Amino acid sequence: MAADGPIRTCIGCRARRSQPDLVRFHLDEHARLRVGRTGPGRGAWLCGDQTARCLASALRANAFARAFGREPDRASLPSHGVDWPSIERQLVAPS
Ligand SMILES: [Zn+2]
Repeated sequence: MAADGPIRTCIGCRARRSQPDLVRFHLDEHARLRVGRTGPGRGAWLCGDQTARCLASALRANAFARAFGREPDRASLPSHGVDWPSIERQLVAPS
């Protein structure tokens, strides 16, 4: 595996991968779940090539709360089974 950039652990499947292969999540100032490389605070990471699957695992395991050290706003969490592209559009923070 090419070592380009820091290694992060996917909170869904626990795979350790380099940052470019992962999608970064964070909480905004209202504790709403957001997607983005540059958001404030602690990040949580999910595999970029199977994000929907790892997201479902992370939601089941309550992994976001553990990764962030606080509870995300429940209303901001995507429900299971929604396709990832539409979740991503919904979660990307307005610039
Ligand atoms: Zn994963």
